[in-house]
Amino acid sequence: MPSTEPQQRTVVVIGAGPSGAIAAALLKRKGHDVLVLERQRFPRFSIGESLLSHCLDFVEEAGMLDAVLAAGFQVKHGAAFAWGERYSEFDFRDKFTDGKGSTFQVQRARFDQLLAEQATLQGVEIRYEEEVIQADFDGPCPRLQARRADGSEYSLECAFVLDASGYGRVLPRLLDLEAASNFPVRRAVFTHIEDRIDAADFDREKILISIHPYERGIWYWLIPFSDGRTSIGVVAEEHHFHDHLNDLDTCLRGLVKQAPNLNRLLANAVWDTPARTLGGYSANVKRLAGPGYALLGNAAEFLDPVFSSGVTIAMRSASMAANLLDRQLNGEAVNWEHDFSRALKAGVDTFRAYVQGWYDHSFQDVIFHENSSNDVRRMICSILAGYAWDARNPFVAEPQRRLRVIAELCASA
Ligand code: FAD
Repeated sequence: MPSTEPQQRTVVVIGAGPSGAIAAALLKRKGHDVLVLERQRFPRFSIGESLLSHCLDFVEEAGMLDAVLAAGFQVKHGAAFAWGERYSEFDFRDKFTDGKGSTFQVQRARFDQLLAEQATLQGVEIRYEEEVIQADFDGPCPRLQARRADGSEYSLECAFVLDASGYGRVLPRLLDLEAASNFPVRRAVFTHIEDRIDAADFDREKILISIHPYERGIWYWLIPFSDGRTSIGVVAEEHHFHDHLNDLDTCLRGLVKQAPNLNRLLANAVWDTPARTLGGYSANVKRLAGPGYALLGNAAEFLDPVFSSGVTIAMRSASMAANLLDRQLNGEAVNWEHDFSRALKAGVDTFRAYVQGWYDHSFQDVIFHENSSNDVRRMICSILAGYAWDARNPFVAEPQRRLRVIAELCASA
């Protein structure tokens, strides 16, 4: 039975993934009362293991950088792309935008637990295995209904709700905010392996994105960790998987075999973990904020995994929302539409342009073009490192036009 008296809190954060942990810590550091409700027990598996440099700016802002640096994660300096004989790599330390040059490739179970523990150490209360099941924003203040693992329920009233529930998409579902993504439905099949890669030319400090030899819409990620293990995954439009989803391991290994470079690199790999799959992950919403709430990270929009932008967008949204909410809680009038929704969308739209260019192949052609100027590569490198909000970068200021022009130049060369 729900208890009748609602608990009173200032801010409730739904979900303790990267966006929830960062937002909660930032608000706590500014002196606000924050409660995080997390449906699962940590550590728990999550996909999204290759970080971009820019996300460490928010880890630092939340006072968690030393803990992340000390955790022994695989250092990442950039991204490499392979297609047949073609190979192209970007080093995040050599980019147009100032900012961090290196980052990490992380097992998300450990990484997310570390961020959540850091938030707890800073005084944030996180209640694990407690799920938000209802939300009411029609009264004088937001009211949530939560369910504990034992099935008991209670209600909460607060000044503001930050929805950081990722694929749970709690407020989009409960408030009818969901909108269709304009990307076709794609699926990923992935696992962790003991990689036993001994090729001298292989760079563990970069994510390797490989394209299928004759189906350019199919691509693979290979994300090495620091313990000799690697995350390997394949992404394709749903119809490519057809009847193969009843045996994910065979499906994944069969597709990996079709990419000669991966076949060679992983010749001695030990495939010791059952494959998983996720489909239809691209999602959008009608609005990012409303009276009494804002949506963070994947609870809002998720584009596509190809440029590893998910955690960076999640953390950037957390930082922007926490800083605005701090001002609002201190009595200032703030403009969520202008200073959160539109400001966040600017960078998301930058990524969107390059994701579209990836799948219509124009950006693939730019990446593999052999005579691109260093300046152009440094500008593109900034975006690949996550600095997609730096409007001084012409490839950020006008992503579609710049990409079209450079793709035409590459095609005519
Ligand atoms: P999450 O990390 O999903 O956290 C949400 C939390 O909310 C979860 O712990 C969940 O248990 C909790 N929750 C859900 N519902 C409720 C509820 N009702 N009540 C309470 N708690 C709840 N991103 C990258 O940066 N790099 C990559 O390499 C990358 N690869 C990807 C590959 C694939 C195939 C896909 C699909 C995505 C990938 N991403 C990647 C994206 C990345 O997974 C997400 O963007 C990122 O995890 C979003 O973080 P978040 O904090 O918004 O949500």
